[in-house]
Amino acid sequence: MSENKTSLASTRLITIMLKSIKPSKMYMGKLSHGSDLLEEITDLCIEKNIKLGRVEGIGAVQKARIGYYNQAVREYQYIELDHALEITKLIGNISLKDKAPFVHAHITLSDKKGNAFGGHLAQGTLIYACEIMLQSFEGPELTRSYDEVTGLPLWL
Ligand code: ZN
Repeated sequence: MSENKTSLASTRLITIMLKSIKPSKMYMGKLSHGSDLLEEITDLCIEKNIKLGRVEGIGAVQKARIGYYNQAVREYQYIELDHALEITKLIGNISLKDKAPFVHAHITLSDKKGNAFGGHLAQGTLIYACEIMLQSFEGPELTRSYDEVTGLPLWL
């Protein structure tokens, strides 16, 4: 029984793209009031030369723009939330796209009644206050390019 499990696990590993990475530097700080959230994280990655990493954060936004990938038509639809919201969770990864650091992040936001909204973080989300932890990794480069199956820029 355990032999079967082992061989099943090794078969799966062949089909899943996984790279071994090691934690490198960790940064912790606050972002600028009024700046674009996605652009500011991207700029930080460029400044710190982070090509492989992760980001997480909490705080608040003045307004938000989040994406939902419509799989039927294979394109993003954007939701604009033109009011103040809490960032209950921001999580993302950093890899390379077109040879530059690219931040892929998702965000969950809540309103004054505690209702939550979430999606793919897009440009147009303005920071009220945001505390982040940004971590870089050492390891092989991960590059995004067009994936025929999904229509998304994935790690290929
Ligand atoms: Zn996404």
